[in-house]
Amino acid sequence: MPIRFSNLPALLGGTLLQAPATDATIATLLLDSRRVGLTEGALFFALRGPHHDGHHHLAALYAKGVRLFVVSHALASLEPFAGAGFVLVPAALAALQTLAAAHRGTFQRPVWAITGSNGKTIVKEWLAQLLAPDEDICRSPKSYNSQIGVPLSVWELAPGRHTLGIFEAGISERGEMARLARIIAPTHGIFTTLGTAHDAGFASEGEKLAEKLTLFERPGFELLVYCADQPAVHAAVQARALPALAWTRHAVPGAALRFRLKPTGAGTTVRVRLGEAGLAQSLPAGQPALLAATRFTLPFADEPSVENALHCLAVLLWRQLDPATALAPAEIQRRLLRLQPVAMRLERKQGRHGCYLLDDTYNNDLAGLALALDALSRQARPGGRTLILSDVLESGLSGPALYARVLALVRAHGITRLIGVGEELSYELRVKSEELRIGVSETAKDQQSQLLTQTYPTTEALLADLRPTDFQNETILIKGARRFGFERVVAALQQLQHGTVLEVNLDALTHNLQYYRQRLRPGTKLMVMVKAFAYGSGSYEVASLLQFQRADYLAVAYPDEGQQLRENGISLPIMVLNPGPDSFEQLRRYRLEPEIYSLERLHDYLQAAQEAPTGTAPLPPLHLKLDTGMRRLGFDENDLGALLELLAAHRAQLPVASLMTHLAAADDPAHDDFTRQQLSTFQRMAAAVEAVLGRPVLKHALNSAGIRRFPEAQFDMVRLGVGLYGVEAGDEGSHNLLPVSTLRTTVSQVKTLPADTTVGYGRRGAATAHERRLATLAIGYADGYDRRFSAGAGLVLLHGRRAPVVGSVCMDMVMVDVTDIPETQPGDVAIIFGEGLTINELAERIGTIPYEILTNVSERVKRVFVSE
Ligand SMILES: *Cc1c(COP(=O)(O)O)cnc(C)c1O
Repeated sequence: MPIRFSNLPALLGGTLLQAPATDATIATLLLDSRRVGLTEGALFFALRGPHHDGHHHLAALYAKGVRLFVVSHALASLEPFAGAGFVLVPAALAALQTLAAAHRGTFQRPVWAITGSNGKTIVKEWLAQLLAPDEDICRSPKSYNSQIGVPLSVWELAPGRHTLGIFEAGISERGEMARLARIIAPTHGIFTTLGTAHDAGFASEGEKLAEKLTLFERPGFELLVYCADQPAVHAAVQARALPALAWTRHAVPGAALRFRLKPTGAGTTVRVRLGEAGLAQSLPAGQPALLAATRFTLPFADEPSVENALHCLAVLLWRQLDPATALAPAEIQRRLLRLQPVAMRLERKQGRHGCYLLDDTYNNDLAGLALALDALSRQARPGGRTLILSDVLESGLSGPALYARVLALVRAHGITRLIGVGEELSYELRVKSEELRIGVSETAKDQQSQLLTQTYPTTEALLADLRPTDFQNETILIKGARRFGFERVVAALQQLQHGTVLEVNLDALTHNLQYYRQRLRPGTKLMVMVKAFAYGSGSYEVASLLQFQRADYLAVAYPDEGQQLRENGISLPIMVLNPGPDSFEQLRRYRLEPEIYSLERLHDYLQAAQEAPTGTAPLPPLHLKLDTGMRRLGFDENDLGALLELLAAHRAQLPVASLMTHLAAADDPAHDDFTRQQLSTFQRMAAAVEAVLGRPVLKHALNSAGIRRFPEAQFDMVRLGVGLYGVEAGDEGSHNLLPVSTLRTTVSQVKTLPADTTVGYGRRGAATAHERRLATLAIGYADGYDRRFSAGAGLVLLHGRRAPVVGSVCMDMVMVDVTDIPETQPGDVAIIFGEGLTINELAERIGTIPYEILTNVSERVKRVFVSE
């Protein structure tokens, strides 16, 4: 039974505030006012968090056409919302979860839940790959496994269409699993591993395990698959007497399946035996002969992949017990060999001719397409929006129904050009345009939409016809199912690269942002420093993400940096730390707010304000920098008298937006007395300025380290910098931050040097008494690889091992010793910094600070931005 809006008050325990003009069936759930796609049947939940309140966006949503709302506090007036429906509930998140649970109740087929600390997403994706030929599967998109992600995923279950659900459940705190269990209501489950991730919310390992297992302790639960080689998990499952299928690589008692593994080159051979608690005994009668003494090959050799694949194999073997789902062993083998590594990343890359590429070529189902289109519509960049799309797979819908949904999504996301690849999509698009031509479906909407379409039966046909010059200053989403090989399309449209790439992980950036946000008192504003090319990470992408995440302010060092952000569509307020005396017209034109740090600059500002011809826009407001101990820029206490006089005399022409100071040693406990003195000087000076202005103004003092160490000094705003990028100088707490950047390059050549041979310029690579192997890497000081790394000071990672620098770092190259890493070959990837070799460690090795390592990476190094 579809759920209608009129069902909601009873279902959610809420009150009807206003009935909608039409009682629509609920089609989509909407939580984010920035991601409005289809509005018909879209139900918005006004969630509230410490720094965000969905109720603030009701008017904007209404303007976009959304008509159905769940709110948790009554509105002052419903007058502006004519025809819209409102239900009032005690808590919107709980209501969302209740609605999803009710929807789940309408689905009678098996639902698998996957939990554990690692591998959830991969096991889910692989299980879906393995079962796809036999089942119509609804699964969580990407790793949607949270209190919000799970209800959204489960909502996608379509009772008439899907035959199986597979959902991930992830928790970080006590009490969360019970809520997820109610929504997923699994009949089957997989417990992957009990790791140490997300430990913070739990008192002990045991407590975390107990919490996770509550997912499966429910009436109607039929089977848990897990690895008995984890003693704590095995004991806990047995103690609870859960219906289970355990597997072991050894001979753990109580395991129904024993897997004997043997590495075979790039793969692993698995011999299957029934354990002493054989499947035949522990499960309903079946055909154990299908299982016993069978041998399979997995296309993986690494430990985590093998473990994940074994969970899936156990599920396939269990399905052998039911003649309805049993497969020939050769078919199981065929499917195992076709397992694909899971790379669900969306990569953002610079394209040719001013284009910007969103590369998402892993799979293409409806849920994934909707997410990728969201990512595209989040781009602030002006210019056309092109979608290159393959046939959409795994939808379970008929062609016309499927592509009507696809086209509706495409229209809702403002796509201007659609390039369709694949027989099915081309056919449907051609039918559609034919209908339009002969007037069968000539709706006003179709006529208005400026959507250009082109179709190709195959990727090869598209490539043959592809001229990069046909794409100019566009944002292009390339979204294709794996078998269409769209990476070739990406390669054709991408800017040429030299071998060095800085990979910036936008998910890690978001994580770090939330870490600092959680430290702010409600209402404290957040300014983020994106100066110096966002600490080397790429200003536009970082700014675009911050705009999406609703930072309050950005700050850049120079007006040109601000102008560039504006030209790329960034609309957040921007402060400029160092406006030159001649920059006021630029500031006015691009709405950049200057930091004013001296009487001269204040006079410049005043003059620019007074000399502006009538009718010009006013100058943007200014920020006064007070020097309380940094001794760099700012008014110090001696200047205060003159400053106050000027402000008093020209109050109308000097609009002060904020007062700020910068701490000299917020990161160092040895100087805490000095820091406190700075803060009290700031308060005293700020009070004097406010007295003259006759009103309070925003005040801010804290940088990254300050946010962490001086929560009492947040005032009205803080200025987050280096911490966002995953490093914080001298921070014992920085294990809370995730590394954001990975700098990598490639091996150009490998040489074997006889003993007594010197290396490089000035023969600074001293001769050795033994033969050695050297690899030459495609990175040098012109890329930002510091010359101080010469002669053993620096290291790189090759095949996970450390190779020391030999001789001097050259302009474009550097040589490293790979004698102990014999498998090194030309074309191999070398990590300069990233996982396993941190920026902090490198900084220490050459006696500098992480800021310098980060910002040194030169602009000629390509940035690639990845997110899930
Ligand atoms: C760079 C900068 C910050 C940020 O400092 P981090 O140490 O990177 O957090 C804050 N305020 C001002 C004025 C800055 O110049």
